[in-house]
Amino acid sequence: MAQIRFRSAVSPLRRGTTGFRRNAPAVRKQITCVDNLIETMRPADPVHCLRPAVLSATAARFVASFPGDVLYAVKCNPEPAVMRALYEGGIRHFDAASPAEVRLVRQMFPNAEIHYMHPVKSPGAIHQAYFDYGVRDFSLDSAEELEKLLEQTENAGDLGLFIRLALPKGPAVYDLSGKFGAAVTDAADLLRAARAVSPKIGICFHVGSQCLDPSAYERAMDLAGAVIAQAGVEIDVLDVGGGFPVSYPGVTPPPLDDFMAAIARGFAKLALPARTRLWCEPGRALVAPGVSLVVQVIKRRGHELFINDGVYGSLSDAGVPAFRFPARMIRPTQAAASEAPEQGFAFYGPTCDSADHMAGPFMLPADIRAGDWIELGQLGAYGSCLRTAFNGFDNARLIDVTDRPLLETPGYLEAEDHPERCAEEAQSVGYITERAA
Ligand SMILES: *Cc1c(COP(=O)(O)O)cnc(C)c1O
Repeated sequence: MAQIRFRSAVSPLRRGTTGFRRNAPAVRKQITCVDNLIETMRPADPVHCLRPAVLSATAARFVASFPGDVLYAVKCNPEPAVMRALYEGGIRHFDAASPAEVRLVRQMFPNAEIHYMHPVKSPGAIHQAYFDYGVRDFSLDSAEELEKLLEQTENAGDLGLFIRLALPKGPAVYDLSGKFGAAVTDAADLLRAARAVSPKIGICFHVGSQCLDPSAYERAMDLAGAVIAQAGVEIDVLDVGGGFPVSYPGVTPPPLDDFMAAIARGFAKLALPARTRLWCEPGRALVAPGVSLVVQVIKRRGHELFINDGVYGSLSDAGVPAFRFPARMIRPTQAAASEAPEQGFAFYGPTCDSADHMAGPFMLPADIRAGDWIELGQLGAYGSCLRTAFNGFDNARLIDVTDRPLLETPGYLEAEDHPERCAEEAQSVGYITERAA
């Protein structure tokens, strides 16, 4: 009989030091529905429920819609099972931004193209990426970095050099305009300098994460046009970065095709030579719907719930950035199901820090109580990768499920629901647990 083993949800980039959990509980039969898993496992640790089919379908939809190459931004979720699902959905390019990410992608996908799109790299990281992992594409936003790239690659003649353009503060939820990027005149100088030493050059930018306004891409492309005009050189690639949004409670972005249309318009307006390629680097949009997090309520205090994960775990974005996530209560079937109306709750995480607070509000049945579980959706992006071991709370688990996402984002294929199959599964499993050897 098939067995389920929880895998660790600790970032694979850290697993080398933390190791895998021993004695993970296993169950007698393959269980693939979240409710059945919780019923069976009664997990006291947070559980990440991975939806490989959703991840693959989301990637496939994005790849089919974007008029160019789609690079997955690895930092968003470097979990190997996530990356495999994206690969199955057609992702062949990866935007890596650290030596550990470069190594991970190369180990998993020997033939994938890795693009090192971090504009500020240590000399050793460049040397290793170029000579040990076959990376050829690098981004930069200063003359210093260009010098460093040439020195560390021993003046390689086959570099792809991407000038990161600074953008004015935009409408995105996460503004990324402050840290990186060259202003137009500097970018034009850099573009010329890059053209002189490289057969492949481009411009890249990032409009900010969870960008709800398609026209932000067009404006950024206009600015790229100004750089190209001022530099007086041709580019080979225009990389419009990440930032593509997903739904959250109360936030429904414009459909994906509106973004694609805006990008196509912006690209056409630049009237670049026909051979010019278009790239993008989505993170959030590819993975957010593909993972949910199941937490348990430890204590209720009025409208506040103390739960077993928090801002030092996978719920970092629910803290200061105050993201709200779709929530639903899971109460094992032996207890009476709730008919209570929903109300808003705030969360406290498990650590002793009072900053471990998530304002929400998260909508849940009014009678929720200690011992109930909560499934939080849209946590595939910037969730488990931000976990820390602060205060000793680092025992999160990972398991594959077949449920649909808690929220759909307009323009992506709607996943199918299958309540009958889950009911059947619950019956066949009989909720017997055992300990793995
Ligand atoms: C983080 C990042 C991305 C991904 O951004 P999303 O908003 O998650 O799509 C893409 N490119 C670069 C350079 C990044 O730093």
